[in-house]
Amino acid sequence: MDPSFEAALKNAVRTIPDYPKPGIMFRDITTLLGDAGAFRRAVDALVHPYVGGKVDKIAGIEARGFILGGAVAHQLSAGFVPIRKKGKLPHRTVSVAYALEYGTDEIEMHADALVAGEKVVLVDDLVATGGTAEAAVKLLRGLGAEIVAACFIIDLPELGGAERLRAMDVEVRTLISYE
Ligand code: AMP
Repeated sequence: MDPSFEAALKNAVRTIPDYPKPGIMFRDITTLLGDAGAFRRAVDALVHPYVGGKVDKIAGIEARGFILGGAVAHQLSAGFVPIRKKGKLPHRTVSVAYALEYGTDEIEMHADALVAGEKVVLVDDLVATGGTAEAAVKLLRGLGAEIVAACFIIDLPELGGAERLRAMDVEVRTLISYE
């Protein structure tokens, strides 16, 4: 990756210490989204490997994955599938629970959101422990999707999420990382 591109993206991300709780460095992409050039370059970089190939659907994880995933889907002329927190989708859903630091959470998608065999790229803003994305991969594979890759703007490699996904045979792409 071009170091000046990485520096420009990092420059566009705002870091909020101790949010939402003490000890967390929150990587806030709203500043990147508000910067037309940085938003365009980030989406172009996420899209780049798939231009001219066949991707049927982009699956975006609530909520920032919706913003990025929608833009990526448009660029690739692919459909978009929202993966949401439990209880938000109106039609019949499939769901997967996953562990949080304390307790569990659950994500779901519409059971008819894709057809078995469709090629899907998963998109979110950031991978930390990988728990959310792992649950999303299970949901998508449970409906027979072929996961082309999981793409994130930001990797927090110390938390091991990207490796966790690779251990599930998922190709992982990230644009910048924070140690
Ligand atoms: P995880 O399941 O641990 O990989 O967490 C990933 C999800 O939590 C993503 O949807 C991120 O948006 C959010 N997230 C986790 N850690 C951070 C962080 N340090 N800054 C911003 N978002 C985060």
